[in-house]
Amino acid sequence: MIPHQVQQIIDNCCDPVRSNANRRVIEELCADQRFRDRQELSGAFNNLGDLIIYVQKHQTQIAIPQKTQGEDYQERSLDNGLVVRYKPKRDFHMRFTETEYQKRGFTECTLDEQTVMKNFPELRRFWWDNYFIWPNPSPIYDYHITLARDIHVVQSVSSVEMLHMFAFLNLAPQFRIFYNGPRLGGASVAKHQHFQGLVNELPIEREWGRIELYMGEASIAMVQDYPARAIEVKGKEPKAVADMTSRVLEVFMFPPEEIAEDVRREIVDVNILFARRGDYRTFIFPRTKELPIMAGTGEYKVRPGAVEMSGVMLTGDKGTYQKLTQGMTADILDEVSSQRNTVLACLKYII
Ligand SMILES: [Zn+2]
Repeated sequence: MIPHQVQQIIDNCCDPVRSNANRRVIEELCADQRFRDRQELSGAFNNLGDLIIYVQKHQTQIAIPQKTQGEDYQERSLDNGLVVRYKPKRDFHMRFTETEYQKRGFTECTLDEQTVMKNFPELRRFWWDNYFIWPNPSPIYDYHITLARDIHVVQSVSSVEMLHMFAFLNLAPQFRIFYNGPRLGGASVAKHQHFQGLVNELPIEREWGRIELYMGEASIAMVQDYPARAIEVKGKEPKAVADMTSRVLEVFMFPPEEIAEDVRREIVDVNILFARRGDYRTFIFPRTKELPIMAGTGEYKVRPGAVEMSGVMLTGDKGTYQKLTQGMTADILDEVSSQRNTVLACLKYII
């Protein structure tokens, strides 16, 4: 028996076929003796995020028995506001090239729905819009989700996808969504469009200094006193924020001729964080390279993506975790970021 409230949440966010698929997932969980929790089920699901957390909480126990707390995971908060987090068994080579995939015997895309279901047969995925949501098999924190497109299209983002993500955040405001570009995406898969979500507040969201560059329906600011280059776009209207973010990305990727050479050298890709706290917000991190030099020499093992750029430096290597000081962590973010002057030169064409 599905509580009325839950049914409403399901109905509001999906087409009829997917809504039915979601209903079956909930029914299955309700019927599962191991996880029947009448109190929780009859209790309040205030929004889509609560429902996703509920599904994931129960299904991860069945399908992907990983927890992200306790001895396995370790975390240190640094005085400069950044965080270093040790996450065991992180595979630094998840971003295989096509050839590497074949060499390893993977012929299918790991983010295609059929492949996900084949690799994790007990998994219950949850539909939302054009995405299916499933627990990330290599979670950074609890309730780390992947939102993968229903069709196999290459990783990219435009204002259309951003609006979808804002719509998701509207229904599941406790989540943050992040996007890793196809070139420098940390450990993300580049060949299938997807986003990821976390429920944790990330350091970049806190009160850093800001230089306001443009005030309007969607405003643009450069985050100050933060080790990475970070541009914040925010506003009350999701469409205005998505369109403005999209313009920022466009000038990075297709810069005007007079600055094109500098930009191509300096801005190779971006990572993006989408958040909603009152305003809709995007943080854009223009990137100049994938790895800091010290990582290339094996001195420490990090591969910065959106989460790292947002202030949580992840490593799967215990030695690296112990070694990283606040200075080193800040240096890594600085080193993989694009030059401030190039970023500002680009933004001048918008503001
Ligand atoms: Zn795919």
